[in-house]
Amino acid sequence: MDPSPSLEPARATPRDLRCDVVVVGAGGAGLAAAIEARAAGASVWVLEKGEAPGGSTALSVGSLTCTGTRLQRAAGIDDAPLAHWEDMAAFDGPLLERDNRALARVLCDEIPATFAWLEGHGVRFTGPFPEPPHRRARMHNVLPNSRAFVHRLAGAARRAGVRFELGARARRLMLEDGRVIGVVFEQDGHERVARAERGVVLASGDFTSSPEFKRRFMGEAAARVPGVNPGATGDGQRMGEELGGVVLNGDLALGPELRFAPAGAGSWLHRLPPSPLLGAAMAGALRRLPSAWTRPFVVRFIATALAPSLELFELGALLVDAAGQAVQAPPALLAQTLAAREGGSGYIVMDQRTAQRFRAAPHHISTAPGIAYAYLDDYARIRPRICFEADALEDLAAVCAMPASALRAALGERGRGRGFVALGPVRPVFVHSEGGLAVDSEHRVLDRQARPLDGLYAAGSVGQGGLLLKGHGHHLAWAFVSGRRAGRNAALAAGGAAGGAGQARAPAADG
Ligand SMILES: Cc1cc2nc3c(=O)[nH]c(=O)nc-3n(C[C@H](O)[C@H](O)[C@H](O)COP(=O)(O)OP(=O)(O)OC[C@H]3O[C@@H](n4cnc5c(N)ncnc54)[C@H](O)[C@@H]3O)c2cc1C
Repeated sequence: MDPSPSLEPARATPRDLRCDVVVVGAGGAGLAAAIEARAAGASVWVLEKGEAPGGSTALSVGSLTCTGTRLQRAAGIDDAPLAHWEDMAAFDGPLLERDNRALARVLCDEIPATFAWLEGHGVRFTGPFPEPPHRRARMHNVLPNSRAFVHRLAGAARRAGVRFELGARARRLMLEDGRVIGVVFEQDGHERVARAERGVVLASGDFTSSPEFKRRFMGEAAARVPGVNPGATGDGQRMGEELGGVVLNGDLALGPELRFAPAGAGSWLHRLPPSPLLGAAMAGALRRLPSAWTRPFVVRFIATALAPSLELFELGALLVDAAGQAVQAPPALLAQTLAAREGGSGYIVMDQRTAQRFRAAPHHISTAPGIAYAYLDDYARIRPRICFEADALEDLAAVCAMPASALRAALGERGRGRGFVALGPVRPVFVHSEGGLAVDSEHRVLDRQARPLDGLYAAGSVGQGGLLLKGHGHHLAWAFVSGRRAGRNAALAAGGAAGGAGQARAPAADG
């Protein structure tokens, strides 16, 4: 493809960065890519537009689905990558034909070594937990929280000699003689250049916070719904497309769905140090203590942006917008309908009779997959800032800052008696989007004719290549597996001093 004028390499300046491999993005995929490229002998710069590594990886619940782990063996579970691969298809339903089963095979074959590699870097897990239709318990959860991935891997990368440029937003790729030779990035209002001798790995996440991509693939209503991660702006997808790359499965996403506000950076939960010692102590406690003791703790530490169960609305709860007006739609469309309302957020309101049903099993307020179900009393105790009870409807309206008359009209019959509960605010969000660049099974970005773009690799969400990651724990698995492989492949690209045929060997568990 002809490079457009904006793709011309900028003139060399002393402030240019020079290395073998440039990685764009320091989430799970980018950190894994950087460590592996460095381990393969390459010099590496990571460009991260945020002030610190993290991305969606650091916001995630932290479930990771894997076979053949130490924890599975300790639980007496005999499992294998092939069974995992077969079971992944069972999650796809009618979308099976759109799945990239070759990449799913890569994921299932490689995740056991990558899980051991993460443990080798000091990341601790609890589990495994069942999640049908997986035939074996395979879901593991990171301890104490998902920041542990980032903390451990960023530390390992730095110690290995990977260099980071923070506040550095990649803007466009540089082409020379049909080969990607670097990245133009913006930092402190200036354009700079990072030159890559062997390759560039795009690891810049998904496009849940890009109105343009959402409008194009999912329509105008979706474009108005924010992403949980405001940094997920699809920069890598855009840069790849500018060179002839293709976005696959752009219309698929987790969302829009209703989510409670996360516990927040101010909560003690988020301040838990992501240390392996704390992780190990928690893992031990979760194994030994009776669940009555650990459940409040467990519910706390997984309390990221939790999703209220749609069963609430089926069993009598009502969604009202910020002005107290009822939001009327089938449960699955409530989030999208709320997004169109002034303020874009609302409350879930219920009378005492409905509330009573959500105080204990089988009806929960939200799930924390495989670990815990959170009931109304858990929310009252653990998240008091989003759970309000009042005897009189007027008092409930006051704490929700909405006109009592509007709330009374919205509730109708249900607003007659005494004793009400409100949960919120809830807002509609996209959690993750599935639209990634087409890649081959070596993570090279492909053009419209399915030819690899020389020197360009993609990993994690931006390199999802049509792979469907349904169920829990497959997105993180893909980020780490594809990141490691893409980093290694870029480092070993033909012509580099580290040599090699440009194909990944299965990365070893070396941590
Ligand atoms: C609330 C939530 C919960 C989740 N829970 C789970 C879970 O439990 N299990 C699971 O498997 N998946 C989960 N996911 C999905 C999973 O977290 C992501 O799919 C995965 O972390 C993606 O990793 P990544 O490295 O591709 O992207 P990210 O982790 O998002 O990293 C991308 C990085 O690139 C940076 N970047 C972006 N553009 C540029 C640019 N132009 N220049 C420089 N840097 C740039 C970003 O700032 C970011 O740091 C969850 C997601 C969310 C939001």
